[in-house]
Amino acid sequence: MPIFLREPEAPAGGPDGKGWNRLSLNAHGGTGHQCALRPRRWGALLESQDTRRARWGGFGRCINRGRCDGCPVLDAWRGQCTVIPINAPRVLVRVELFFAPDTRFTGPTGYRLWVTTGPEDRNFRDRQPWTWEDAARVRGWNLGPAYHDEYGEGFWLERTAHVPAQGCIITTRARDSFTRHAFRVARCRVALLHCTAECRHDAQLLNAISHACPGPEGANEERVAVPWALARKVTVPPAENIRFYIDVRPLSVKITAVDSARSECARLTLSGSGWSAERVQAAVDALRAHLAAVSSPSR
Ligand SMILES: [Zn+2]
Ligand SMILES: [Zn+2]
Ligand SMILES: [Zn+2]
Repeated sequence: MPIFLREPEAPAGGPDGKGWNRLSLNAHGGTGHQCALRPRRWGALLESQDTRRARWGGFGRCINRGRCDGCPVLDAWRGQCTVIPINAPRVLVRVELFFAPDTRFTGPTGYRLWVTTGPEDRNFRDRQPWTWEDAARVRGWNLGPAYHDEYGEGFWLERTAHVPAQGCIITTRARDSFTRHAFRVARCRVALLHCTAECRHDAQLLNAISHACPGPEGANEERVAVPWALARKVTVPPAENIRFYIDVRPLSVKITAVDSARSECARLTLSGSGWSAERVQAAVDALRAHLAAVSSPSR
């Protein structure tokens, strides 16, 4: 994977010719060779996800004189993954520039990236700021659109089923005749997935269910918050050859997945007051998407 970005030669016309301005280059990450794992703006962060697309210009300088083997930036990228400390489907990262005295015209001397729950989040400074290099080491979240408002610039990150929900602990126990996956939030079990025989799903199903799980305030032994109108057996549209049955009870919601041979392949039990109709729907959608994916004939 190429990460060394050689500084282009100055075009004819010289450094002071039209369109080639050292000051403006400085303002965008400095001059010299650059490193594709050190983005300094949204477009460069996008390129850093697949460095074959990376072009010199939007990155910080190479710190290891082009010797990428043994470069601490590359080592960190390989070895450390940046965890997003928020349980939400998307987060807004705000980019704060800071300037040393007398460097107004040579560009920022540093950046702090703040993870926020969104534009209204004003308490983000309680969290640890990131560097741009930290942002390049986020896994399992997609880079969303760039963002700006009166406070400054930033970008969105969008969670995928490659990562579990922050704060949800998933444990798996395999027995001879079944496998159980427990989902715990604040030490309280909020969901239990019982797979008959062997699992017919990928690891992403577990992550997707964890995204549906309530936060700590809804993790308890109280009644589920599903309206009474739904408190009867409801069928969900089948996916591939799997049918789903929902059974709402006062203290739990059970979703049963039954295959074409009429045998139960999975059963998901949800408990706690945080389970609203929307969250139950999200859990069912996760089951439909991921069970069907594995059980389809083209697997
Ligand atoms: Zn490097
Ligand atoms: Zn380098
Ligand atoms: Zn399973």
